[in-house]
Amino acid sequence: MGEKEDNVIYLDNAATTKMSRTAIEAMLPYMNDIYANPSSLHTPGQKAKEALELVRERVATVLGCEPREIYFTSGGSEADNQAILSAARQGARWGKRHIISTAFEHHAVLHTLEKLQEEGFEVTLLPVGEEGIVTPEQVAEAIRGDTALVSVMYANNEIGTIQPIGEIGKLCRERGVLFHTDAVQAVGHIPVNVVTDRVDLLSLSAHKFHGPKGVGVLYARKGIRLQNLIHGGAQERGKRAGTENLPAIMGMAAALEEAVLKLPFQSKQVADLRDRLIDGLSRIPHSVLNGSRTSRLPGNVSFCFEGIEGESLLLLLDDRGIAASSGSACTSGSLDPSHVLLAIGRVHDVAHGSLRLTLSDETTEKDVDTTIAAVTDVVAHLRSMSPVWRDLESGKKEFIIK
Ligand SMILES: *Cc1c(COP(=O)(O)O)cnc(C)c1O
Repeated sequence: MGEKEDNVIYLDNAATTKMSRTAIEAMLPYMNDIYANPSSLHTPGQKAKEALELVRERVATVLGCEPREIYFTSGGSEADNQAILSAARQGARWGKRHIISTAFEHHAVLHTLEKLQEEGFEVTLLPVGEEGIVTPEQVAEAIRGDTALVSVMYANNEIGTIQPIGEIGKLCRERGVLFHTDAVQAVGHIPVNVVTDRVDLLSLSAHKFHGPKGVGVLYARKGIRLQNLIHGGAQERGKRAGTENLPAIMGMAAALEEAVLKLPFQSKQVADLRDRLIDGLSRIPHSVLNGSRTSRLPGNVSFCFEGIEGESLLLLLDDRGIAASSGSACTSGSLDPSHVLLAIGRVHDVAHGSLRLTLSDETTEKDVDTTIAAVTDVVAHLRSMSPVWRDLESGKKEFIIK
């Protein structure tokens, strides 16, 4: 991939990634030459249609499923919405109105579940413990006779913890309950296979693995009745109206194949840098890694530092050319700390001092070392100005992070 612009150290790859050259090049012909509408009956239209069906086969091959189980969407959020609403409606036909999920899902899942609650569904959100992992035993205990769906994310977007999806899938299959996983952070980063993982519904999004934004996939196992979110034409076997975004779909498939091909060696390289970064930041006093150290995405580093505001840390890092994320939901102007950090038991004060750094294969050892030095420095600086920190140091207040 290309050189870095403006010497920015981009460590926000969980928010979005830079498109790969391969993905961009795969898109170009579908903007220049093969631009016809796949629903058109003329020759150029039929060429586009053929390309669409071929790319569907490629995506299916990567996920380990059949082409007719692949539905192209506008991204992860749409796939999550459609998966959950479809499973809920299917359940309701059998009088099943109970859904199991976890406390630290993405808002695309949580807000859809809230919508269903308003419609009379009962939702159980499983706690995820300090490690940020939900166990198959928890799921087993929560399943009832009227459970329509279990939805557990493959890997968390804030703290990077990987869930035992294969085991949960096996359990749900045995108990006859539909299983959805939001695999947006996992696909292209760790091995995912819908057959061996026994998932019924899976969401993924291209821009999290160096593909274009605004395109994703809903995998729905054959036999599952999808409900339309978007009504209109008969695209995607009548389940998702709207002219297919063929350039984006082509870019997504190319990025997906590239990511999966590179995965075996690249995930090791990225994980080594992740560990170097975790070790470096752990040396900052009164800091704590968020979530399991071992069951963790190769590129995710998430910390809380006591006595600072994550937002201030972000801005000062940005001044130094480091693009990071707080992992907290302050973006919307609300001052509520991240629901994910609260879910793993961080108290409000600690959760406010969070930092998420997410790496890519472009991240270098030098980037990591520069970042360790910058974070160490900025945290010390912010603490030196903080009245809260003064109280902590003088023993007037007790440290929460030892
Ligand atoms: C980014 C993300 C989404 C949303 O995907 P979009 O394509 O941006 O709509 C959903 N779930 C998780 C876990 C994500 O990280």
